[in-house]
Amino acid sequence: MLETKLIKNIAQIKIIRSNMFFSISVSCYYVDNMLIDTGPVASHDEIVRYFKDLPVDKLVNTHSHEDHVGNNFWFIDHKNCGPALAHKKAIPQITRAEGKYVKMSDYRVYVWGVPPSSAAVDIGTEVETEHYKFQVIETPGHCDDHICLWEADQGWIFTGDLFLSEKATVFLNSGDYKELVNSLKKIAKLDFENLFCANGRIIEKDARKAVRTKIEFLEQTEDQVRYLYDKGWRPEDIRDRLLGRDERFALAGGEYCKLNLVNSILAAR
Ligand SMILES: [Zn+2]
Repeated sequence: MLETKLIKNIAQIKIIRSNMFFSISVSCYYVDNMLIDTGPVASHDEIVRYFKDLPVDKLVNTHSHEDHVGNNFWFIDHKNCGPALAHKKAIPQITRAEGKYVKMSDYRVYVWGVPPSSAAVDIGTEVETEHYKFQVIETPGHCDDHICLWEADQGWIFTGDLFLSEKATVFLNSGDYKELVNSLKKIAKLDFENLFCANGRIIEKDARKAVRTKIEFLEQTEDQVRYLYDKGWRPEDIRDRLLGRDERFALAGGEYCKLNLVNSILAAR
């Protein structure tokens, strides 16, 4: 299912994948004929229906995860807007370079589908559209090939899967806590008012404050995790005490859960 809304000159296309066991969404943003992320291939038909008559001149991927790059191939074939622009580290995954891409877990294949390969090149430091200029900010942490796009004059920042929410406690097992905090601190220094998240969240006012709140939350959590660990607590017990238990149906059998945050904090020592 797709839900769309328009904020300023930006269209949010929210793609919802759900069945009786789960409901999960990812959002693409369409601004000045540039598309930021292309959604999962599992929602291909809906995406095609939406964009059939819309011009797309540029394609950006915030990172290489399958829910962000799954329809690159269609836009490149039908809109002549390729190759996709992404962090240089994302290219092997997007192009599915022989022997260089990471295979997806069964759950991710089931929920999002396997993205067909597509052409991609290094985005560099800046992307220009007809009316706007976006600076590329390298923001590893959620994964190592993640970028944000910052439009300084408009006060917009597109944060992919970097921000998500002030108190997000679930974490990818491949994520890096220390890098995530550093990336959040990096964007907190920029001047912006509006923040656009790939999980659908849009902060329309004083978004920097929300980023600072997230940094504080993570650093407080880090202190508490270390304190309990030094007292001999097991990571599972630290999680239960500070973050609450993981859902019985923790997505992907632990690939995306609260325990990963605790473990990544401890690994950052
Ligand atoms: Zn992601």
